[in-house]
Amino acid sequence: MAKRLFIDLDKCAGCEECTVECKCSYPYHSDNNGVLSLREWLHFQLICRKCEDAPCLNACRYEALEQLESDKTLKRNNLLCVGCKSCAVVCPFGTICFEIIPFLTFKCDLCEGRLENKEVPLCVGTCPKGAIKYGEFEEDLEKNRHKLGNVIAQVTSWKRE
Ligand code: SF4
Ligand code: SF4
Ligand code: SF4
Repeated sequence: MAKRLFIDLDKCAGCEECTVECKCSYPYHSDNNGVLSLREWLHFQLICRKCEDAPCLNACRYEALEQLESDKTLKRNNLLCVGCKSCAVVCPFGTICFEIIPFLTFKCDLCEGRLENKEVPLCVGTCPKGAIKYGEFEEDLEKNRHKLGNVIAQVTSWKRE
């Protein structure tokens, strides 16, 4: 069975301890915060309520947020965003990370090509909450485990009434 990165978003405290080693592993992009890019992506997919009259869109005076026609998923345009965090303040569900940084594009490549046999991604060892793991995880919707790409994210489900 393929090994995957597992993130428990219910446990993640947003402390950013996990980014320490991730940053160090990119000599040409030492600010890289792969976990933040992962969290933003997963939050938009799984936590965002995809509001019809989205307060975050209305709060952004730079038109940096877009809600996709197809499934109402949010996208943030790094080059338009100035990091004012107005969207994060007005979202009633805490979907948008307060740590968002404009202009820089972060990337999690799942540490591909940098793991020797039996090694685990660098962020796994630095999360003090044990919210990031690496192993043979599968999607299990009854346990609120969702597969997105090659990542399994655990987060309490919500349903539209
Ligand atoms: S206000 Fe929050 S929950 Fe609603 S669309 Fe925006 S980010 Fe999603
Ligand atoms: S942080 Fe960026 S996306 Fe959010 S309101 Fe400000 S400019 Fe818009
Ligand atoms: S898997 Fe690797 S690249 Fe991705 S966030 Fe963790 S340390 Fe960074």
